[in-house]
Parts: sequence; structure tokens; C-alpha cells
Amino acid sequence: MKKRGKRQFGSRILAGMIVLSVCGCAGRIPQEKRAAIGSDYMEIYGGNTITRTGYFTNASGILYYVDFTTQDAIPVCNKPDCRHLSKAEDADTECDAAIDGARVFPYKGKLLGISEDSKGNEEIYSSDIDGSNRKVKKKLESSNMFINEGVIAKDSFFYVATMPEVDDQENMKWISVLKKLNLDTFEATQLDSVECKDALGFQLLGGTEEYQIYSLINDNETLFYKLDYESCESEQIELFQSGYERILPEENENSFYYLSIEGGERNLYQYDIDSRKNKLCLENEKILENAGGNIVGSDLCGKCQEGIVYWVRTWTEEREEKMFLLDHNGKIQELSMPQQLPVAGTHFYDVICATEKGMYFWYLKDFESNGFQDNVDWQAYTEWEDLVNEKSVIKNVIKPHMTAMGELVDENGNPINGQ
Ligand SMILES: [Zn+2]
Repeated sequence: MKKRGKRQFGSRILAGMIVLSVCGCAGRIPQEKRAAIGSDYMEIYGGNTITRTGYFTNASGILYYVDFTTQDAIPVCNKPDCRHLSKAEDADTECDAAIDGARVFPYKGKLLGISEDSKGNEEIYSSDIDGSNRKVKKKLESSNMFINEGVIAKDSFFYVATMPEVDDQENMKWISVLKKLNLDTFEATQLDSVECKDALGFQLLGGTEEYQIYSLINDNETLFYKLDYESCESEQIELFQSGYERILPEENENSFYYLSIEGGERNLYQYDIDSRKNKLCLENEKILENAGGNIVGSDLCGKCQEGIVYWVRTWTEEREEKMFLLDHNGKIQELSMPQQLPVAGTHFYDVICATEKGMYFWYLKDFESNGFQDNVDWQAYTEWEDLVNEKSVIKNVIKPHMTAMGELVDENGNPINGQ
């Protein structure tokens, strides 16, 4: 029942003893950059850790750090001459980066991470920034507890701990609580009065160095809160959405945007923190009219000088992705990017994260393999300026080595064993 991020691609099948030459990836994280990696605010969500300087991600079984200034993906490994093979590519791999998931974050010159011990209990470990010298720092109490998402604010790690309340195969009941881990002492405390009796009903929706917005989703109602890290107090706020839509903070204006899904409608709102009011920025009819079909997925990409960029997925005859710019005058412009991806037969999947200059995103190629749905994904980058000016300059950041089901692929993302 573990859910690590929104992409559920199924378990990877070990590909056995296969020798293959993997690309000469970019080298190690440069020494002069190591101290500067990380920030006062970091988010772990969607399987990645987003910092102000870059993001950590796991692709094809290898942990990478993607540097925002160069868009290079650097394996988190310090072994000389290492070929950075994943466990699927080489069962005996000794590469530091060959770990599952990417629940790591830099803190005071170290790389901290969450992993599981042999009994499946969560533990916090510490290593050098390059992934070497890994040591367990703290076993997090309760067995069967898991951490899905979290944020790091200054010297604390705030995370949602989900564990069985009734641990009985037939009648499993879950409880989620908000905890704070002091990253200097590794002492964990539970924050008062916040719990949710549903395994995935406690959602962190995003925030800034000062606050985090989260939702508690119950059968009858969904409640929203703003957590202040300093006081550890949560104040209830009113948002119009399902409880899963992430927010896009507008730090200069002390507000945030969200593309809400509620009662079958999609609306774009701006929530003003001081006045505690929601302002409707773009209504359902306009979003639908521009999408031109039945919308089955949508999200905000980010904010650029010209306005707010969002994408929608429609499904009428077949699936289609479209991207739009909502400018400051309320005008909507369709962007051709989802139709201009660098590899033929692929489609836009989702945004990974956005910076002031551009956005990182996944695109995917779907295919069928032995009767199963399978896919490969690329991580790519485009600058806002190129995106809104329709220049379709897209840089591949990480190319796939294998499919979600663990089949090795060639440089074009096609399975090597010929399908
Ligand atoms: Zn390596």
C-alpha cells in the first residue's frame, strides 16, 4: 500500500545479469557546488526532492541531482570510474546512486535520506553530498509507518507519518499524523490535533519558507489548513478544491494559486493570505472551451513573466495534452510544446518542478509488452521565454535506461529485446 509519489508504474522486474554500456553521464557534483546545494525550504513530493538550487530524482534506478543552473543530471555517486549501473542492470552494483526512490535532501553539507531497514521500518540516514559514507542516524519508531511526503523548513523536517491504527489484514485502519523531526538532534515530535483516519487523506499541498498548506480529506468533508513552521500552529482556511491540488505560491504578493477540481468543475483561484479570500482568476467554462474536449487531468506548470502556464489532458477519442498561458489581461494563448517533444511517439506527462527561468517535466512513450502496459519516461527542461514564444527549445535532462517494467531500452527508448 506504499505510495511514493503520483506515478504508479508498477514494480520493476529485475533484468538479471545484463552487461551494457551506459552513457558517460556528467561527472560528480562539483566540489565548489556541494556546500551551496540545498535551501531553507525543500519539498519531497511526487518522488522527487525540490530545492532552490536543483532537484533530486530517481530515474531508471539511479539517484540524480539535477542542477538548475546547467540542467545537468549528476548521479549521486563518488566512486571513481563508476558506470552508475542500477540494481536491475547489475545485481552486484556498488554504485552509491543505485538506490530506490529519491527521498533525500541536503542539510548542512550532508545528504540526509529516508530509507527502509530490513524489516521495512523507516530510518533516517546521513551521507556525504556525493552519496558516500552512508550511516543510519535514527530509526523512526512505529513499525509499518511510512512517510510519503514531507517538507524541510530551516532545521526541521515536517512529514506525514502514516501507520496502521488497526493492524489486521481484514480490517486495516490507517491513521496519518503530522510530525516534526529536528534535523540537528533527530528528535521527532507529533504536532497536536492534526490527524487523519485515512492512509492518503493527509496531503501536503505546497508552501514557502514560512508556511505549508495541507488538506485533511475525510468521507464527508475536506478541511484545509495553513501550518506556520515557526509556531507549529495550524490555522484552518477555506479553499475550493478536492484536497489534492497543489498550490503555486506567489511570494511577493503573499498569496498562492491553485487549479481546483471540485464537483466536476475546474477553476483557477488565487488565495490571498492576508484577506483570507479566494479570487476566481479563470472559470470552468473558459478552461473547457479552450481545452476543446473532456478534461481528465490538469495542473499548473508555473508562473512566468507573461502569466500562469497550465496544462490539461483531454480524452475524447484518444488522449491529448494541451498547454496554455493565461496572461495578465486574462487572455489565453495555447502553447504548442506538448506537440513538439524531441522524441517521436511520446506525449507530455506532468511537471516535475518550476523555477524562475523555466520548468522541468516528464514526457512518456507508452507501449505494450507481453500483454502489459509499459512505458519509458524522459525528464526534460524548457525555458519560459522559449515556451511562450513558441520556440520549442526542449533539452533532455535524463534519458531512460529501462521501462517502468524493467526492460532495458536503447537510446531512443525502444526495448532492446525487440518488441
Ligand atoms: Zn556510481
